[in-house]
Amino acid sequence: VDAREKGTISIHTENIFPIIKKFLYSDHEIFLRELVSNAVDATQKLKKLSSIGEFNGELGELRVEVSFDKDKKTITVSDRGIGMTGDEIKKYINQIAFSGATEFVEKFKDKGDAKDIIGKFGLGFYSAFMVADKVEIISRSYKAGENEAARWECDGSTEFELSTTTKKDRGTDIILYINSDSEEFLDEWRLNSILEKYCKFLPVEIKFGTKNENVEDGTDAEGKPQYKTVTTDRIINNPAPLWAKSPSDLKDEDYLKFYKELYPFSEEPLFWIHLNVDYPFSLTGVLYFPKVKNDFELQRNKIQLYSRQVFITDEVKDVVPDFLMLLHGVLDSPDIPLNVSRSYLQSDANVKKISQHITKKVADKLQEIFKKDRADFEKKWDDINIFVKYGMISDEKFYEKAKDFALFKNIDKQYFTFEEYKEKVKPNQTDKDGNLVYIYASDAGKQDSFIEGAKNKAYDVLLLDGVLDSHFINTLEQKLEKVQLKRVDSETADKLIDKDEKIESVLSTEEVEQVKTVFEKAINNKNFTVSVEPMSPGDLPVVVTMSEFMRRMKDMAKTGGGG
Ligand code: ADP
Ligand code: MG
Repeated sequence: VDAREKGTISIHTENIFPIIKKFLYSDHEIFLRELVSNAVDATQKLKKLSSIGEFNGELGELRVEVSFDKDKKTITVSDRGIGMTGDEIKKYINQIAFSGATEFVEKFKDKGDAKDIIGKFGLGFYSAFMVADKVEIISRSYKAGENEAARWECDGSTEFELSTTTKKDRGTDIILYINSDSEEFLDEWRLNSILEKYCKFLPVEIKFGTKNENVEDGTDAEGKPQYKTVTTDRIINNPAPLWAKSPSDLKDEDYLKFYKELYPFSEEPLFWIHLNVDYPFSLTGVLYFPKVKNDFELQRNKIQLYSRQVFITDEVKDVVPDFLMLLHGVLDSPDIPLNVSRSYLQSDANVKKISQHITKKVADKLQEIFKKDRADFEKKWDDINIFVKYGMISDEKFYEKAKDFALFKNIDKQYFTFEEYKEKVKPNQTDKDGNLVYIYASDAGKQDSFIEGAKNKAYDVLLLDGVLDSHFINTLEQKLEKVQLKRVDSETADKLIDKDEKIESVLSTEEVEQVKTVFEKAINNKNFTVSVEPMSPGDLPVVVTMSEFMRRMKDMAKTGGGG
């Protein structure tokens, strides 16, 4: 058969348009993010042209302004950026999925980078039709005169109207005529919260409304200061957020101040890590180790993900390894692949590399603090051990790094590295098979008498009483060679470490049996073992224990299986 034919697939705009409007974006509020980021792009482009000598006029005030009119039912986004001629509107707006942003980056890629341009897919503009019956563009290109501005109008069908108009200032106004289903957006509080969410750190000042401020205005006859109220533009964003700056320009105060900006109600963080990589992927951000008062306070999803300073999500699963989800802060990477609606991440090789990079940086930072100031590290250990242990349990690579700085804390509040602890207990806590036995308490209050017993034998008792410690113990037993961990109440002090020593009992075999039976009847629970043992002086006469194995089985059943 020689009926081969090649061709181009065509799209029926009338059919595809409703799909774009309805299904591309799950969340209607993002129309504002899209329009504001276009306005920011237009502004950045003009700055770029100015910096390479292709625009020689006055830049002037370059703010983006968002406003609304409740009576006319309009929302307007205005900028003083590059603008568009009528022909450019035809090219960039009428062609769905043609991105002028990508074109711009391509065109100027040889003249330094234009990487602060946000647009990408050529679809964002059309999100306006999710909330508007009609959209109007009034734009004056930086190349055009006052009477050469363009006006475009479209009611969401595939027909548009384009004409010439006058516009005093350079730049673009996008006017949305809000549809009846979306009138909730004609509200100051609502618009403000959307702007705060997505646009808080965009790199160009964004004005929304005005604010009143009391400022000092001279003094009265008695020398008392006088105040007057002035109305000023309200700028909703911080165009130069901390993470976009160079770490060498920043002081501790700056990091603490930024933390307050992100989480006004949280306690000061313990320390932070400034991420700043260019290659092989681009990633900036600051991660804070929060101070947690108790384990219940741990909150996940406090890390915000940005792409070129546009907020994307606080669902950072995949980008941040699970154990670091407890950290706070921001990440910004244009290299994290986002779908068109930018609402979720597509997992790919880059995401994995970024996650590994973050893990490594966190380990390096901990190592650095440990090496630089051991005392400070010990002071922080009670707060950070939960992160470190979680990492050691769940991430092989992290374990390998952390085993050099992770600490054991004993019942007397002394801290040891793994290596130090091994040396400490070697002389007295080696059993007859040459295994080291680490004895730990999981509840110092309840296990008090057992701890006493162990101490009388000059054994060291670790304190492992955190929420993750039972899992951590499992990990340690797998990783540490020839080490056993035994809970202090799992045996009598004499038997905790099997040393092959015989102690003579003062009771006869018959007497031992009698005492044993009495206690077993009283307890009436097969999970416990009653031992009447030959004791060293000072030990408890009768001890009821649950074996390490039996207890762990029960613990696991309680927590639904363990890892
Ligand atoms: P993207 O931003 O991904 O390129 P959009 O659909 O958001 O796609 O916008 C399409 C194009 O329209 C932009 O790339 C840009 O060239 C042009 N455009 C949109 N808004 C403006 C604006 N405010 N000023 C100048 N050009 C704009
Ligand atoms: Mg866009």
